[in-house]
Amino acid sequence: MAEYDFDLFTIGAGSGGVRASRMAASMGARVAVAEESRVGGTCVLRGCVPKKLMVMASHFAEDFADAAGFGWSVGPTSIDWPAFIATKDKELERLNGIYIRLLRDAGVTLVEGRAVVIDDNTVEVAGRRYTAHRILIATGGWPSLPQIPGIELAMTSNEILDLPQLPKRLAIVGGGYIAVEFAGIFAALGVAVTLVVRGDTLLRGFDQDLRTSLAEEMAKKGITILHETKVGSIERCAEGDLSLRIGGALETEAEDLRVDAVLYATGRKANTKGLGLPEIGVRLDETGAIVVDQFSRSAVESIYAVGDCTDRVNLTPVAIAEARCLVETLFNHNPTVMDYTGIPSAVFSQPPIGTVGLTEAEARKRYGEIDVYISRFRPMRHTLSGRDERTMMKLVVKRDDQTVVGCHMIGADSPEIVQGLAVALKCGATKAQFDATIGIHPTAAEEFVTMREKQPEPHAVAR
Ligand code: NDP
Repeated sequence: MAEYDFDLFTIGAGSGGVRASRMAASMGARVAVAEESRVGGTCVLRGCVPKKLMVMASHFAEDFADAAGFGWSVGPTSIDWPAFIATKDKELERLNGIYIRLLRDAGVTLVEGRAVVIDDNTVEVAGRRYTAHRILIATGGWPSLPQIPGIELAMTSNEILDLPQLPKRLAIVGGGYIAVEFAGIFAALGVAVTLVVRGDTLLRGFDQDLRTSLAEEMAKKGITILHETKVGSIERCAEGDLSLRIGGALETEAEDLRVDAVLYATGRKANTKGLGLPEIGVRLDETGAIVVDQFSRSAVESIYAVGDCTDRVNLTPVAIAEARCLVETLFNHNPTVMDYTGIPSAVFSQPPIGTVGLTEAEARKRYGEIDVYISRFRPMRHTLSGRDERTMMKLVVKRDDQTVVGCHMIGADSPEIVQGLAVALKCGATKAQFDATIGIHPTAAEEFVTMREKQPEPHAVAR
């Protein structure tokens, strides 16, 4: 392979690209990675990490209020938003430094600038050409916004993470992960949040009981949810605020929603524009995602892709796992196919959601006969705080062999709890094995091993 400058040239130093580059280099490959922005990618710099820090920052508001129920007098509280943004940025700076160091320590060459693929084995960055035996595209995704008049006045998840000051009124368009997470954050910080959702419920694709419970809990926290509502246009008013022209499903009763800021969280698309991919025969689907086979290989033999730019399961740990499988295949003589079953995920709404396996509707469709167990309760903390917040936990069990095929929770710590249960589901645990497991008392998690009563069949109407 001496005729090439590198064995692997990765485009994009996010979660997937960094993992693949480091691993390949540790196996002796000569690796370069190109990045046009900062090293770290969406998760570290514009997604999971800053978002979760914001969730934590905002949650203190409820914590201070709840403390009164335990005898504390907390006194007046307030957040210094610019101070929080500054400490958050400092932490991102630290993580960026760690990522750069990890690449350097692994012997990976970092090439700064925007890369364009020239041919099957050549990449150009900042006017310089590099050749490589294999090219890996790991360019992630980017917010996708509908083209309505005034859309340039809207923020995306990129900008909202750097908001210089808190708005008084915020409209959020969309009902997916990002929309509900930011709705929770800003509502907890005292912002009047209106969620504008085009469908009839939030979080399409999630278990219906989770979706209904989340909508109920969000409403209790003062978030206004406008269902089956579309935004026709956005205008800047003379007073400086924004006016959203909104209408119901039939768009007959359009009215104006006045806010100080608007966030669009209407999905993300593969970040593949301008990379020169279709020009050299890499196939993209209609959304721009790179079409790959089970080994993450594109239509061009020497070009591979992992992570959100392939639009398979758009989660950081999945991109990392795809990268791991790819490097095993290419550099360790061990063809490895990614297993997409039983991927757990969380939504850091307030309260948060943790979920793994099939929804009730999916399980019913796949297996016909299923058993469903549900537990709803007021968490112990709120017996004293007085807060009206309910936890919901649900197990979906395949009736014939009693395998637990779905596990869903909304409530405090659910992402932490469901991560452990994901191991049990991966091992094919049965309901009897859940029942034979001793609970840890007093916890919310113990409910998952003490649910004994099946939901009556009427619940079993396909949802
Ligand atoms: P999602 O795909 O989750 O949700 C998009 C939302 O926008 C849906 O409610 C959709 O409605 C709505 N929508 C789409 N187009 C329009 C439109 N033209 N007008 C009005 N509404 C519209 O995307 P997100 O942006 O929330 O998140 C992107 C991805 O990022 C997720 O898929 C996820 O993989 C990842 N992510 C993961 C997180 C986590 O793991 N905790 C956190 C944040 C993001 P409808 O349902 O009707 O299509």
